[in-house]
This record gives sequence, structure tokens and C-alpha cells, in this order.
Amino acid sequence: MVSGGRLKTSDAGLEWLPADRAPAGVKVLLGERDGAVRFAVITESDGPGWRSLRGLAALIDGEDGVFAVHAVGIAEWLARTKHCSGCGGRLLIEQAGHLARCAGCGSEQFPRTDPAVIMIVVDGERCLLGRHPSWPAGRFSTLAGFVEPGESLESAVRREVREESGITVGRVDYFGSQPWPMPASLMVGFVAHAESSQIVVDGQEIEDARWFTRTEMLAKAQSGELVLPGGISISRSLIEHWYGAQLPGQW
Ligand SMILES: [Zn+2]
Repeated sequence: MVSGGRLKTSDAGLEWLPADRAPAGVKVLLGERDGAVRFAVITESDGPGWRSLRGLAALIDGEDGVFAVHAVGIAEWLARTKHCSGCGGRLLIEQAGHLARCAGCGSEQFPRTDPAVIMIVVDGERCLLGRHPSWPAGRFSTLAGFVEPGESLESAVRREVREESGITVGRVDYFGSQPWPMPASLMVGFVAHAESSQIVVDGQEIEDARWFTRTEMLAKAQSGELVLPGGISISRSLIEHWYGAQLPGQW
């Protein structure tokens, strides 16, 4: 069962019910596992046992994790897709929750995914981390931003880094990606190689950005002066990939 960005869980992880005990609601086909077809049911419920994806991360295994992010992504899309974007007509949900068809003009809407880039900027022995003005003291992370229409991922990396930190980026290497369906993002991670070193922050999205050597990063993370993003995030993976080992502390 999924309601907005939250899922019904038991102590063992996601709560799976036989079909005859499923609650009323839109059924979303997730896939097959152990010979059984799995659906999520979108309900209005909330309360004890409901957890966000973030709260679920430690409880569920890889396959349930894939089902969970898919269910939340579809639920978030349907929650925000109430009317036809062409004529404002009523939508009918088809294809087991994966298509919304307009009852008026017949046009089809599909779940969307909005790509965002997230990157660790490296300059020789140093890497660049920045912080948002609203974050608690000490918290720093990799830079990130949404891809503009008509823009390549590499161009988005160079633009975002330039806008937020003033640093010019040359080579951009793909690292990996992470679905973030709250509501509809796919975080695409990169290692961005700096071609300049003078930091000029924009003061709005990023209030402070700094170069860290590996020695500085370990010392500040150990002392708590620097607080790095949490273990399940791609930003943490990017930082530890650059560092070459696990680091202490997290949000
Ligand atoms: Zn329509």
C-alpha cells in the first residue's frame, strides 16, 4: 500500500497482502517476484506503520527497494495528475496505473521523470563541496541541479557548477544514478574536473563552497565540524568514491 510518498510496512519490511485482502484503490503493477505478481495499491491511509522511502531504506532488500521506489514514483505522479494537460478533461487510469487517458480528447499522459545532475568537482587532490543557506551548521554536500530543456547532462553539470560556485569544469565523467521519485527525479551523478580554482558562490542556492583535501575532509568529519550527507544518497557515494574509503558521520 502506498499513499503519497509513504508506504505501509511491517517489522519485516514492506507489507505484502494476498489479493483478496487488498484495500480499495488504484492498483499499480510493479512486477513479479517468487512466482507471484506484485501490485501496489494507492490508498488515502496513513498512520502507524507508514514510512517514507528514506525511513524504509534500512528495512528492505534490493528487490523490495526497486518495487518501493517504483510504487512511490507512480503514486506521486498520479497525485499530481488530476486533469488533462491539453483540455483540462477528466483522466481515466489505464495500463495498471501507468497511463492516464483523457476522457474528453483521448490524449495520453505517462509518468514523467525529471533528470537532475549531481557532481563532485575535483581539482587534483582537492574536491569541492557546498552548502545551502537553510542547512544546519557544518553540513556540506556535492553540488546539484535540474537539467534544462534542450540541455545535455554534461552541459548541465558545467552550467550548475559555474552558476553555484564560479568554477569552470572541463571533463565530465559519468559515475552512476539514483532514482529519487519525490516527486519525479532521477539523480545522475558525475565526477567533474575543474579547470579553475577561484570560488565565487551565488549566495542563494549555495552560501558557501570550499575545497577539501582528503586529510582535511577526514579530520573535519571526525571532529564533527563537517557533516556529510547520509549513507543511502548518491552524494555520499560520490564523496566516498573520491575519498577512496568510508568517512565518519552523516546527516
Ligand atoms: Zn484532454
